[in-house]
Amino acid sequence: MTRHVVKRLPVDTGISGWEAISQRRFPATVLDRDITADWLIIGGGFAGLSAARRLLQHRPEDKIVVLDARELAKGPAGRNSGFMIDVPHNLSSGEYSVADEASTKAEIVQNRLAISFAAGVAAEFGLPSETFDPSGKVNAAASDRGLALNDNYRRSLEKIGEDHRVLDADEMRRMTGTTYYRGGLYTPGAVMIQPADYIRGLARGLHERVSIFEHSPVLELSREGRHWKARSNRGSVSAPKVILGVNGHIESFGHFRGRLMHIFTYASMTSAFSQNEFGTDVTGVDRWALLPADPMGATVRKVTVNGRSRIVIRTRFTYDPGLRVSDRRVAGIAAEQRRSFDARFPQMESLPLEFSWAGALCLSRNHVPAFGEVEEGLYSACCENGLGTVKSTLAGMMAADLAAGVGSPQLDQYRNQPEPSRLPPEPFAWLGVNSVIRFQELRAGREG
Ligand SMILES: Cc1cc2nc3c(=O)[nH]c(=O)nc-3n(C[C@H](O)[C@H](O)[C@H](O)COP(=O)(O)OP(=O)(O)OC[C@H]3O[C@@H](n4cnc5c(N)ncnc54)[C@H](O)[C@@H]3O)c2cc1C
Repeated sequence: MTRHVVKRLPVDTGISGWEAISQRRFPATVLDRDITADWLIIGGGFAGLSAARRLLQHRPEDKIVVLDARELAKGPAGRNSGFMIDVPHNLSSGEYSVADEASTKAEIVQNRLAISFAAGVAAEFGLPSETFDPSGKVNAAASDRGLALNDNYRRSLEKIGEDHRVLDADEMRRMTGTTYYRGGLYTPGAVMIQPADYIRGLARGLHERVSIFEHSPVLELSREGRHWKARSNRGSVSAPKVILGVNGHIESFGHFRGRLMHIFTYASMTSAFSQNEFGTDVTGVDRWALLPADPMGATVRKVTVNGRSRIVIRTRFTYDPGLRVSDRRVAGIAAEQRRSFDARFPQMESLPLEFSWAGALCLSRNHVPAFGEVEEGLYSACCENGLGTVKSTLAGMMAADLAAGVGSPQLDQYRNQPEPSRLPPEPFAWLGVNSVIRFQELRAGREG
């Protein structure tokens, strides 16, 4: 009998501003009895909830159960910067995407498949434009190096015939209010989400037809006859087929150990301010979304709801194989984010950063997902390589297709990827990965 005992549960350090300002519209239910189902999905992030919706589309009569260790949207799915990116950046130089031209084109098709699935969620469940905004995004450059990277990116976009527009310093200032940026590159296909609202909106749309249990960690998963049995604190679920949407925590279920890199990234959100509080034009138009021209720089977004705006800044990456980081680390990085924010908006030094938090990503060395049927009836939709709003949505869709036996050329292509490659043993991996990250962050300079 196979039995996986889960020894490590998710820990989310700091309060996500997105979650704090999002309103929950349905009650959280804890699993408190033993139940059976046709399908069990473990993890209620992008992967898990997308798998649930996809299964519902394939098998509307089946009983589907989702279990999450935490409350939905309190984990990474509700604490990211909300860029659903279609065009990987930087296409040629490998700064964001590592692929050649043909694979880049294939990746764009896959990303768009996931984005259109998410657009279906927004339409079906009535998500407003503050939650799901197909506005596109800008790669912002604040230095010579950033401008050169954007130019490189522009050339690769041209080569594959992707729509884009170059923005000069003046246009950047009109959009963001700050003179910090010297140029930008706009691509129209990205969607900007309020991540906590999106996850809650998706779960709310599903919850009449899918049983979602929160605060219900899976502590043990065992194979009993033709079923898998997942035990939680106060109950259990038995199902013939299980999809794991737990990202890096798949290691706790006995798979892909020594092959996944647990990376944390960090963000802070200001308190709310009104447009005239700091003088008009200080922060530009109501909503904008900037990715750094150098991927190791700062992601910065402004959102406005009912005339009240907030700015969110995300910086830094750290490799933490223990899958948890301290409050002290979050506070230290929040102080750096304060400096990055003040450099961009010096007139707003008195505006507090109200929320600061960290969140886990999962990367593989060869940039592939941890995907497939890992044991009989047990499917993995994990390891999103840092862009899970899109990649985990896709992994969830593909895992549901695979498990339900619904074939497609997309699934064939998605399955046709190698396994995540092995990492060097610790402490070499720790030393190596953290040194490379830190070197690249320092090189990013003013972009950070
Ligand atoms: C600050 C920050 C900014 C980011 N910005 C972006 C961005 O702009 N665009 C982008 O695409 N991505 C971004 N990301 C990454 C994105 O958040 C993740 O890629 C995404 O959340 C991964 O989705 P997922 O469903 O695979 O995993 P997760 O969101 O991590 O969900 C996994 C779920 O599994 C649950 N779980 C784990 N173990 C168990 C267990 N034993 N029992 C039950 N449940 C369990 C967890 O509680 C969790 O809810 C960012 C991340 C951070 C932290």
